Amino acid sequence: MKRAAWAHLRLSALEHNLRRVREMAPGRQVMAVIKAEAYGHGLMRVADVLAPMADGFAVSCMDEADALRGAGFRLPLLVMQGFKNERELRQAAHQEIAVVAHDETQLRLLETTPLSNSLKVWLKLDTGMGRLGFPTQRAAAVYGGLQRCAQVMQPPVWMTHLACADEPERPENTAQLERFEAATEGLPGLRSLANSAAILSLPRSHGDWVRPGIMLYGASPLADRDPARHGLERVMHLQAPLVAIQDRAMGDTVGYGATFQCTRPTRVGVVAIGYADGYPRHVPNGTPVMVRGRRAPLIGRVSMDMITVDLTDHPQAAVGDPVTLWGEGLPVDEIAAAAETISYDLLCAVADRVQVTSQ
Ligand code: PLP
Repeated sequence: MKRAAWAHLRLSALEHNLRRVREMAPGRQVMAVIKAEAYGHGLMRVADVLAPMADGFAVSCMDEADALRGAGFRLPLLVMQGFKNERELRQAAHQEIAVVAHDETQLRLLETTPLSNSLKVWLKLDTGMGRLGFPTQRAAAVYGGLQRCAQVMQPPVWMTHLACADEPERPENTAQLERFEAATEGLPGLRSLANSAAILSLPRSHGDWVRPGIMLYGASPLADRDPARHGLERVMHLQAPLVAIQDRAMGDTVGYGATFQCTRPTRVGVVAIGYADGYPRHVPNGTPVMVRGRRAPLIGRVSMDMITVDLTDHPQAAVGDPVTLWGEGLPVDEIAAAAETISYDLLCAVADRVQVTSQ
């Protein structure tokens, strides 16, 4: 069941943003990160556009990689959370899907599981993210262990993930890069460290493979939240129609909890989008939407299917007008800041019931 809210996708912006990756990290291979339904933009749709331009696709789990192979994508695929058991490992080998290995249990499975084909493995080191990865002190031993796995293609790709790349000046970035460089020094294999933020601001991290995600979708990976400054073009334009306009008197309240009280006679517009569509519930009064090319402030609480906006200064606005929640002229980064979250969260949360159109 679809709603009258639309996510319009500008696919040429995806291509533009991937070209931007290549400008920023010249000569590096690009592993386009399209996990989580391509950050809410649709896995297959995005894969179709980027397949001719990317050197590989990174996803988080085996099911996503399986779907891509099933749809006929032949380029290198990388499952970033790796494999959880023998079945997934056999599947990866069978479908020629590269896997990240990040712990000793996986190394043991690699050594003991009979596989139909040889397998490409990326070895993940934990240089400071404190999440997945072998301790850096174990790098040489892990490499030795991998050498014993007859079915693994040698050498591996060494990878790590930066915890603070969105704030490039933080000392943790240099510390992670140095730990990675020291741990992998002299060990054969390609290197991969950079997510979008690092591609834009930490050239030392570029290595052999870069792994851009959010910048492909035209949102800012850096804390400054201005994608245009980095030459990125927005991909998603989220809109919903104005379904009612009501005149309210001074002193009237609007919405659940009566959290907004009109301080003047107010023209209240009701827009058919709410938190069940993925619009963030926790944005405050004053969060902007765009009506007929100009900003109008949200008032009152976000409901499940509706939001209310102040149209007093928009006398031309009429029922049926499309209202922009984010997109052209209103970066998703700005709405994410209002919701005290990040653009990734908002893009991934756009609900299935929102209609998707692309051009
Ligand atoms: N590499 C890894 C290991 C990731 O987990 C992610 C995303 O979470 C990325 C790369 C892409 O990050 P970004 O979307 O910030 O470019």
